[in-house]
Amino acid sequence: ERPLADVDPEIAAVLDDELGRQRQTLEMIASENFVPRAVLECQGSVLTNKYAEGYPGKRYYGGCEFVDRSEQLAIDRAKGLFGGDHVNVQPHSGAQANAAVYHALLEPGDRIMGLRLDHGGHLTHGMRLNVSGRLYDVAPYGVQEETGLIDMSEVARIAREARPRMIVAGWSAYPRQLDFARFREIADEVGALLMVDMAHFAGLVAAGLHPNPVPHADVVTTTIHKTLGGPRGGMIICRERHARTVDTAVFPGQQGGPLEHAIAGKAVALRLAASTEFRERQQRTIAGARAIAAALLHARGDGVGVWSGGTDVHLVVADLRDSALDGRQAEDRLHEIGITANRNAVPFDPRPPMVSSGVRIGTAALATRGLQERDFAELGAVVRGALGSDFDERREELRERCASIAARYPLYATLAATAAA
Ligand code: PLP
Repeated sequence: ERPLADVDPEIAAVLDDELGRQRQTLEMIASENFVPRAVLECQGSVLTNKYAEGYPGKRYYGGCEFVDRSEQLAIDRAKGLFGGDHVNVQPHSGAQANAAVYHALLEPGDRIMGLRLDHGGHLTHGMRLNVSGRLYDVAPYGVQEETGLIDMSEVARIAREARPRMIVAGWSAYPRQLDFARFREIADEVGALLMVDMAHFAGLVAAGLHPNPVPHADVVTTTIHKTLGGPRGGMIICRERHARTVDTAVFPGQQGGPLEHAIAGKAVALRLAASTEFRERQQRTIAGARAIAAALLHARGDGVGVWSGGTDVHLVVADLRDSALDGRQAEDRLHEIGITANRNAVPFDPRPPMVSSGVRIGTAALATRGLQERDFAELGAVVRGALGSDFDERREELRERCASIAARYPLYATLAATAAA
């Protein structure tokens, strides 16, 4: 029972360095969050030792009486939060959840419609190299050039023409809410299934601050680790008639033994997501994103815009198509001053994807850290400063302002470093 620092000092050093990085920098990658200590405890627990192929009460291994309990709690809590007839909490990731749904409900060669990757969609919604793009025939939809928004009449037009077997609604970088009722109508009109991937905005839905797709969709998939703030992993919520095929597609279709330590962490996150503290945090998340969008638009010049002119969710995409600065340079500048964010294509981006003309800035992790709306407004001004033409003169000042915010909001204050030294 030697501690990690003894057994493997190299890996212990990685853990320590990463904890230091998370504490000292400002995390604004829109898909990230900080899990509570209770979730870390589950993840680092003895549940990782257990094989539990099958589902609660119907396992292929003995000794599952306790993991049955935590998995059932996760399922029941998810139903309590989101509704839905049936829940599967076993997908190892969001990508696995999506692949399992396709496997369950489609045949290779079937046509699917998803939001284009370069318009904010996800790899698993039909990207060429992803299994979704390799196995299925993809008829993508995009956003309008003038507004940056998904135009539902265009979605309807493509659906009528393409007659897809499934329409996928959901995004990784889109700053607005989707019209789930209209997606449902279109799916019904063309005889398609509707899948909503709420990975990014699930936390906002849980808090009642975003429309819930569950009543509209045949199947809803999500990750647990973005706005929902739990351990890395996926989940599927579906109507009763798809329950068996979805379960079979996850296990044994795609996966073997479920990660019961992660599932216990999912149960904890789903419990916390029903709390008033969680709702308040999601309110700060959205208010923070709006404050950042406002700050980016406040200072004119330098060719800095905001995709769709603002946000309704936890992220803002700075639009640098008119700026001399590209997405990669912007990401590097933010890194230099202590902000972690990622470059991202914007719709109709003239630059190649590895460079791109956007930066995606999310507020979920920092809201978890405790930042208030006024802190996000200041951060917006700092980000705007980093994108400006006088960055070189301002670098030090901007770096100090980030360091001071990080110092005001300690992260994992009671968590010990692992290294003995
Ligand atoms: N779906 C959406 C909309 C996402 O944004 C992501 C991750 O970024 C995923 C699915 C995939 O999740 P994972 O990285 O857990 O496979």
